[in-house]
Formats: sequence, C-alpha cells, structure tokens
Amino acid sequence: MRRLFTTIFCCISLLSFGTVSAEPVKCLAKVGKLTNKQIVSLASLGFDIAKRGVDFAEIVIDQDQVMAFVNKGHPVKVIIEDLDAYIKKVKATQNKNSSYYTYATMEKQFKAWAAEYPEICVVESIGKSFEDRDVWALKISDNPTKNEEEPAALIMGAHHSREWPSVEVPMATAKQMLTEYASNPEIKNLVDNRETWIVPMVNPDGVIYSMEKSKYWRKNRRKNADGSYGVDPNRNYGYQWGNAGASNSGSADTYHGTGPFSESETTNIKKLAEREKFQASISFHTYSELILYPFSYAYNIPNPDSKVFVKMAGDMSRFNKYTPKISADLYPAMGDTDDFLYGELKVLSFTFELCSTFIPAASEIAKFNELNVPAVLYLIDKAGTYGLVTPAAHDELINNLSLDAGLKAIIDNVDLFAGEGNVAMRNEVLKQIEKISQRTAVLVCADLRNGDSASWLRIKNTPQARLAISFVRNRVLFESAHDSSAYREDLVAEIKNS
Ligand SMILES: [Zn+2]
Repeated sequence: MRRLFTTIFCCISLLSFGTVSAEPVKCLAKVGKLTNKQIVSLASLGFDIAKRGVDFAEIVIDQDQVMAFVNKGHPVKVIIEDLDAYIKKVKATQNKNSSYYTYATMEKQFKAWAAEYPEICVVESIGKSFEDRDVWALKISDNPTKNEEEPAALIMGAHHSREWPSVEVPMATAKQMLTEYASNPEIKNLVDNRETWIVPMVNPDGVIYSMEKSKYWRKNRRKNADGSYGVDPNRNYGYQWGNAGASNSGSADTYHGTGPFSESETTNIKKLAEREKFQASISFHTYSELILYPFSYAYNIPNPDSKVFVKMAGDMSRFNKYTPKISADLYPAMGDTDDFLYGELKVLSFTFELCSTFIPAASEIAKFNELNVPAVLYLIDKAGTYGLVTPAAHDELINNLSLDAGLKAIIDNVDLFAGEGNVAMRNEVLKQIEKISQRTAVLVCADLRNGDSASWLRIKNTPQARLAISFVRNRVLFESAHDSSAYREDLVAEIKNS
C-alpha cells in the first residue's frame, strides 16, 4: 500500500507544479477495501475524507486519481463525477423561499436583526479575513453591549467554504432566539441568562469563492509561497498543530499553513474565545451526521471532562439522531478548532458534521435546521450547568448565578457525577459544586433575612442540593447567634430542625 500512496503523492505534487491555474476536475468517490491505517494515511496526505466506514472512505479526489486506486485493487464508486458542476446544479435548486445564505445576505440579515432587536443583539466584526473582509459575529443576550458575566456559548459555521449548510444552522438558531424572545419563555431564559455568539462564516473568502465561481473549494484563499492557494482553517489552530491528518503541501485540501495560527481566520476565533471565555461551542461542518468531541490530534488521549462530553453529545444526538464520537476515532487530525478550544481554553467544544452530503438541495435547508437548532439551544442552556464544572468556569461567573441557574447546575452535575469512580475528576467537580452551592446559600439567606422562605423551601425539597442546604443552615445559625434580629425566630427554628 505504501506504493499506492507514493504514486498518489507524486501525482498531487506534479499536479500542483505548474498547473495552478487549470485546477483538475474533482470528484467525490467511495473507495473500498481500505484498512484503518490506509484511511489515516490518506488524511495525512491531504485528502478531504468526507465520510468513513470500517473499510471504506468517501473522498474528494481528482478525476485522474481514480485509476490509481482501481489499479491497486480498490473498488471505487464515483458518487459525484464533477464537483464544480455539482455546485452549479445545487445553486440552480435555490429559489425565493429556500436559498443558502451568501456573505452579502448574511451581513444584511445581521444588520437588519441588530436594527430590529437592539435590546437583545449586537453585530461585531471580530477581525478581517485574508482578503480583508469583515468576519461578522452576532452576540445575543439581554444588555448585549455589556459583559454580564453570564455563561457563554460560541456557534460557528463555514470554516470550510463548500460546506454551506454549516452557515444555515447558526443563522436559524439566531433567528429563533430573536424572533421567539417575546413569546417563548424558554428562549427568553436563554437570551436573558446566556451570552451567545454566532459566527456563521469563519472563512468568508472561501465561501464567496465557492459560491460565485461555482468551485468545490474547502480552504481559505491565501496565496501560498509555492503558487498554490489556500490553508485549511480547521488544521491551522495552535493546539497540537502538525502533520497527522493534515498536509504540509500547499495544494492539498488539508494544508495546515506555515505555522500554528498563521491565518487570520483562526486568530479571529482565538482572540474572541480568549476575550469571551466560552463554556461551550459548536463548529458546524458537512457531512456524515456525526457529533464529534475532543481530542482529535491522536488516538486515546485522556480527556478529563469525558463524562460531560459523552453526556452532552448523547443528549444532543437525541434531537438529530446523529452518531456521537471521539473526533480521533474518525481519523486523527491535528490543528482543529475543538482541540484548541478545549485543550487550551477548556471550552466544551463540539463539531457537528451535518447532513449526508456536502451541499444538499436548498429545499432541504428547513429540514436540517429543524433537526439541529434544538441541539444548539440545548448546548447554550447546558453551557450554564455542565459548563460550570469544567475549568472554563470562573468565579465571577458563579458569583453572578441566579438561584434558578445555580440550582439547575447543582441538579445536573450531582445527577451526572453521582457515584463517579475517578477520584481526580470527582474532586474537581466537587470543588465547583461547592462554589455553586455557596452562591446558592448566599441567595437563600438573603431571602430569609427578608422573611421570605420560598427559596429555602425550594432547595429543601431538592435532594441534590444537600450541600447548599447545609451551607444555609450553618450560616443562619451562626448569624442568628450573633444577631437575634437577623432572621425570624420561627424560620431559625425550622431550619435548625430540618
Ligand atoms: Zn469541514
């Protein structure tokens, strides 16, 4: 098999040499009889593996590479013969009622929303692309111009140009949050108590190139030193950046760039994430119907928060019926978004591989949005419960929790970690639950000092809140012993005996 890969590799090198202007025709092919090792090698050689099974892969290859596989005894089924022509066909499926967002319509929509819902959203350019376009973000929250120390979530699309559905789900999520704020109490709760950042086009240059030139283009539009174009933004992040599942050849689909964060598209996200301190994120891609989570850079890397990742991925998969998976189990790939966001910043970071093809007909948009938006809303909600037991949570966040939010965080985490056998994990989580319980006790005691026992009754009747109850009891007994007028006598008696 080594020889096959050598042949292909030479082929790519030759093609990239002097044929930059006349790009080869790309096709999508299902290649069979592949071992896991061969699939992993293909990823590192720079092929875009759209989907894989136990012994096959659906790969974007040049038409003239098909025979190289066939000659080595691999059954090859061409799924889409000419991907550029395919893009033209998809564009023709669009009409007034269903069409993919372009950079221009996305920008226009963001500005329209900001004008219509100024109390709950604000538009910001988080930086420029390689070709100097604004990379737009929409922040959705009450008091959107202030940083209110609320749990925060980041929703991204279009790291990869030709994966148009990845723009749609973030846009549909924003639309639902804004238009249902006034009528849907669950949405209102998310807007009021979270800070949600929507960045639907991380790589606008590439999206525009793929749409306007009808090109099956994956990367950004950097001109590389060897005359080729494009760096793969999802191989350019600076945590474990390198060659596994990424290529050092400029013409390859998974070219990782000249160094970690060499691209403005990735540094824009890095700066935003460092500034906003997200608890959870989703980066949308196509295709395969998967929910992926860290780590991606190598097999079997211990993930200290695996229990939370497994729980959240499993819960999200109930909405869209996608398969949850550790990212590296697909094939290891270095320099991706999730590894950086989790590895460096402890964000609970997920990648969704939407749909069963790169770009479904525009008539499918409503359907895949409907399947996936509820999963995004779930993640935004859980950024404030599970997100508080990872190191991405900070004390200001916990000190700002409402009683309701604190109690939800306690219930979710105590339920999930009951009986946790891993001592290190249990201790980390306990430390956070203790802080949240302290915060909850402060709020309950403030109510009790005003003679209001409703919040006390609420935690008293919540079995998971035992720690918070004991904090309240200690505090009330201590304070009333020093100042007998601090609390009503009957309340002190009740709390003492409870
Ligand atoms: Zn992708």
